[in-house]
Amino acid sequence: MMAQTGIRLGLVGIGKIARDQHLPAIAKGGDFDLVAAASRNATVDGIANFRDIAGMLEGVELDAVSIATPPQGRHAIATAALAAGRHLMLEKPPSATVSEVRDLARFAAEQGVTLFASWHSREASGVEAARAWLSGKAIRSVRIEWKEDVRHWHPGQEWIFEAGGLGVFDPAINALSIATRVLPGALVLEKAVLHVPSNREAPIAAELDMRHAGEAPVRVELDFLQTGPQTWDIVIETGAGTLILRKGGSELSIAGEEVSLEPEREYARLYAHFAELIRKGESDVDLRPLELVADAFLLGRHETVEAFEF
Ligand code: NAP
Repeated sequence: MMAQTGIRLGLVGIGKIARDQHLPAIAKGGDFDLVAAASRNATVDGIANFRDIAGMLEGVELDAVSIATPPQGRHAIATAALAAGRHLMLEKPPSATVSEVRDLARFAAEQGVTLFASWHSREASGVEAARAWLSGKAIRSVRIEWKEDVRHWHPGQEWIFEAGGLGVFDPAINALSIATRVLPGALVLEKAVLHVPSNREAPIAAELDMRHAGEAPVRVELDFLQTGPQTWDIVIETGAGTLILRKGGSELSIAGEEVSLEPEREYARLYAHFAELIRKGESDVDLRPLELVADAFLLGRHETVEAFEF
């Protein structure tokens, strides 16, 4: 039998993102050996499959667990993995509430294991270059537009419009994860309007007004019903020119010049970072994107709009 050299990993929640990104990134990465999957209905060929986390933790030896289920119900799954002493990586958003994530961070520290609350959009090719250029610059204004077609990107994902599923903030939290990473100062929410379909529990569109470092206005426009060209753009006006991150951070222009970037490897970078955190005995849990979403739900005026069906 061949000796296993990688970190033995179990993946929970075999849905769209697990198949599109996690499985290929784990297979290519080299740090992890995927030995098991836990999903109520789905299975992955060639490894041990279980219906739930309890069965997986009992049935197979693991060093680490990665969770790619919807945010509702994450806390119980994550707690089970941590209680078994496994290192843990969470898809975004890290859990359904801020207090759940704080509880997981506390428990991971107590158990002496790594907790990685991942933000895949922070690994987009343009993000670190944007952050480096913006460091020390005077920020004048920020405009974020995150507009996509939910029927195309999330077909039939009923959980997304259930309480805790975040609605349009499911993709928009990616924009907030980039903004909180690249902007030098803190973001504070001042006003929010959330548009909630009459037959749903979570918003389908929203507008936010925030302030950067107590000064620059930050306008955020979110829409889940955009057909045609899709928009995932962040435009940052500075004293030294305008920086634009397009297509979710995969394209970058600075003061009118296109910046040449590496090809996209968001999930490869996430798993490499998770392996590095495990090796160093560290955790990485940044709550700011989820806090801003929570603030939007706290401060936002809720407006009822037309019913939505997939
Ligand atoms: P999805 O296609 O609905 O897959 C999630 C899977 O989790 C389901 O197929 C389901 O598999 C399992 N699951 C466990 N409990 C569930 C529950 N109560 N309701 C529904 N499914 C449940 O969703 P996804 O798009 O992969 O998203 C999962 C997570 O990844 C979300 O947090 C999302 O924000 C994040 N994400 C998604 C994307 C994307 O483009 N789709 C991109 C990046 C991150 P079983 O039925 O087999 O249990």
